[in-house]
Amino acid sequence: MITAEREQKIISICQALLQKKSYSGEEAGVAETLRDIFIELGYDEFFVDTYGNIIGEIRGKQPGKSLLFDAHIDTVPVVDASQWKHDPFGGELSRGRIYGRGASDMKGALSAMVAAAGFFAADCGKNFAGRIYVAGVVHEECFEGIAARQISKRVNPDYVVIGEASELNLKIGQRGRAEIVVETFGKPAHSANPQTGINAVYKMADAIQQIRKLPLVEHLVLGQGIMELTDIKSSPYPGASVVPDYCRATYDRRLLVGETKESVLAPLTQLLRTMQEADPKFDARVSFATGSEQCYTGEAITGERFFPGWLYEKTDEFVQAALKGLKSAGLEPDITQYSFCTNGSHYAGEAGIKTIGFGPSRENLAHTIDEYIEVEQLVQAAAGYYGIIKSVLTDTGKLHENIN
Ligand SMILES: [Zn+2]
Repeated sequence: MITAEREQKIISICQALLQKKSYSGEEAGVAETLRDIFIELGYDEFFVDTYGNIIGEIRGKQPGKSLLFDAHIDTVPVVDASQWKHDPFGGELSRGRIYGRGASDMKGALSAMVAAAGFFAADCGKNFAGRIYVAGVVHEECFEGIAARQISKRVNPDYVVIGEASELNLKIGQRGRAEIVVETFGKPAHSANPQTGINAVYKMADAIQQIRKLPLVEHLVLGQGIMELTDIKSSPYPGASVVPDYCRATYDRRLLVGETKESVLAPLTQLLRTMQEADPKFDARVSFATGSEQCYTGEAITGERFFPGWLYEKTDEFVQAALKGLKSAGLEPDITQYSFCTNGSHYAGEAGIKTIGFGPSRENLAHTIDEYIEVEQLVQAAAGYYGIIKSVLTDTGKLHENIN
């Protein structure tokens, strides 16, 4: 199914995508390139939403389930291009590797997806049940799962495949992530007379000590629900001769399956309340950090930084159908979890849509100098996506019809 000619096609798609610089909020150019690829490969339709996500659609001749492939089209910036031996936006092919920012994270995966779906449709003359969508998603690097909300609302997929790097293994879950903000409020005073004020940093220091003593949740597969202090700020800053009346600390909290916004904040709210009862001068608040970013369409994208975790059983029907498809493509994937956060947070964690991860390349190649993808991984990923489509939309689709 992936002939030598098709291999060349996948490589040239990957190069074209890499040649368009697409930092978060600046994805217009790469979205245009993806649109041209959809048209060239015979997709039935494409649409762009208000965030600038671009989604291509292939309709099967019979009605059936819909399968969405998700790849973000934004990349992290190139900090210092002079440290790169290869042009970060050249898409250079050298010794079986394609170089460029986003090669592993994750324009390579996108190339493999968009091509595999096109090849599959061509091979069967669209004679299959259901729909295939390939989504190029904006703003994942700083805001995983938020832009994806518009996609699932519009497409309403039955199944999702996340293409983040898995080294061709099958991922069935991930820890989630939240950013928690703790604030303390004091009373300003001249630091020559500190007793007339309330120092918000001292209050924060007490809170930090107590928060460290809170027990953390644990999960057999996903490990510990980490809560790590990542920054602290006081105000006024600099505080020349002033007792600070405000302090803010941020925590990175890694979430396990089943943890909700409420369950995560509850022990912290309770702790601060107890401290307030013991010390009338203690005034504190806890909340999730919120973020707001600008999309290339001009639309603002905002949301709380809470991205839930998710995990499926290996015996899950969709997991098994995907596994069967990957094996039919000659792959022998391990079934494990992602160690980082993906758009799966939205699909599986928020929207409850059956989701798996499968992608080319190693995750530790993401965000690196001279980022690259091996052509072999790229081509095998395309074969894997092809196998998943075939298994899920032809075999499982039929299975469903028989049961119903
Ligand atoms: Zn990524």
